Amino acid sequence: MTTAPERHTCSRAGCRAEATTAIEWRNPRIHTGDRMKTWLACDEHVDVLRDFLAARAFPLRVRAQGAPTDQVS
Ligand SMILES: [Zn+2]
Repeated sequence: MTTAPERHTCSRAGCRAEATTAIEWRNPRIHTGDRMKTWLACDEHVDVLRDFLAARAFPLRVRAQGAPTDQVS
């Protein structure tokens, strides 16, 4: 079974650009504990995606795609 190398594309609908940023977020109403969702964003859409979440007051964290995840204590 062959698997194509995973390519990280932007999470914005219809965008095929390579993601440079990861946005980790959580909806406190449906996500319990520390479970986070991750959206990937290209340079063009990072602000759009971040603002979408910020407008809903979801906790979020932005980091460079491929950067090590912060240690969770
Ligand atoms: Zn994009």
